[in-house]
Amino acid sequence: MSRGSRSRRKSGGKAAFIISAVFLVVIAGIIACVFLFFGDDSGETKPAMKDVSGSSSSAKDVMPGVVTDAEADEITDSTIKVKWSAVENAQGYNIYVKSEDDKSFSKKGTVKSSDKPSYKIESLSQSEGYSFYVTAYNGSKETTQYYVVGIIYTAPKKPVITNITCPEEGTAHIEWESNEKAKGYKVEYRLTGSEKFLSDKAVDIKDHHKNSTDITELEDKSTYDFRVTSYVESGGKRTDAVGEVKSFKLVESVAAPEESGTVDPDKPMVALTFDDGPLGEPSDRILDILEKNDAKATFFMVGNCAATYPDNVIRKAKLGMELGNHTWDHKSYGSSVTAEDISKASDEIFDITGVRPSCFRSPGGITTDEIKTECINEGMPLYFWSVDTEDWKYRDANHIYKLVMDTVKDGDIILMHEIYGTTADALEKIVPELKEKGYQLVTCKELIQAKTGEPPEPGKQYRRGSSTD
Ligand code: ZN
Repeated sequence: MSRGSRSRRKSGGKAAFIISAVFLVVIAGIIACVFLFFGDDSGETKPAMKDVSGSSSSAKDVMPGVVTDAEADEITDSTIKVKWSAVENAQGYNIYVKSEDDKSFSKKGTVKSSDKPSYKIESLSQSEGYSFYVTAYNGSKETTQYYVVGIIYTAPKKPVITNITCPEEGTAHIEWESNEKAKGYKVEYRLTGSEKFLSDKAVDIKDHHKNSTDITELEDKSTYDFRVTSYVESGGKRTDAVGEVKSFKLVESVAAPEESGTVDPDKPMVALTFDDGPLGEPSDRILDILEKNDAKATFFMVGNCAATYPDNVIRKAKLGMELGNHTWDHKSYGSSVTAEDISKASDEIFDITGVRPSCFRSPGGITTDEIKTECINEGMPLYFWSVDTEDWKYRDANHIYKLVMDTVKDGDIILMHEIYGTTADALEKIVPELKEKGYQLVTCKELIQAKTGEPPEPGKQYRRGSSTD
């Protein structure tokens, strides 16, 4: 495809040169025609012919034909591929390029003759205008007539979608990196699985400072593909840079998106964590206790349990609890946990809340390479524990209460399970008493952030852990 306007520049004959030409015709008697060419009125001139004296040329070198149809073939943010038709007697071609800021053309490259000659001009700047022309040569002879193609704009950099969210039912909020060099953006979408992006549904944004837009009236719970294209425009022609397609399932986010930011890193804190839920009554009661005491905690949920008790999961999200992943069905243990066990649970929690779980804890407390890789892919750190209540073994509220209160110290991550009534009973006392002692009850993320000064790292295991579950 040809993009860019070609300006055709005819030679202006000058008397002296015509006389010269006539003289040469007389002397040689074989040269039919000689073009002598000058640049346009902006003062640019064709670079001088190489001095033939002392070169390997011979009198047999015939002047090749003139390249008349050079055009831009493919354009990226740093290259313009130029193509033209082969001409007679050409041994090869020279390509001359000039940017808008350059005063004159300079030779960018040479290619040998072929049936379909082309040349990729490289190392160009994004969104910048370039002119170029191609000459043919044969030995020492280089055509002096040329046609300048200009101005072709390189594309802006491809926009990258950085985030897609669903702030309310049927609405997608798309964010991308803005680009100073772009003129504007086009945001397109389609239902995943359908063939084409519908051009009449595209959103045109003419301000290159903008880096987000809302698309409304979409089908809830459906998955859409989104794509952002940036462009530059010149003389009514657009050069596009089409970004990568990103898919997103439209599930309204019910969670408080950001942490409250009320954690005081200088005061003691503890992270209560609960595995294996949700499960009906004990899970709901644990949330009642936490809510009443304005406490946060982290829940490592099993995907198929979350599917059974979605209201409990939504309530956790709305209360600002940290949503963790504890595999899809808890059947795979330790080193047998697969990436799919993890991703399936994340997908389920996302389908319920519109938020992906932010952390992982492995049943059996082993971190394998596969687990680590999947956690990195999903942006999840792994939180283990420093205090194991063994509440699954004792099922005794008083024992759990005593164990926690006797061992707790600043910075602990305490392991419990949200599926036992005895654990909920113990928490009736533990939560208010920890608060009375001056502990802040925080999520694992808040605790690691406060204690290390850095946000937790995906794929990294925090706290050692010791026993099972
Ligand atoms: Zn477990």
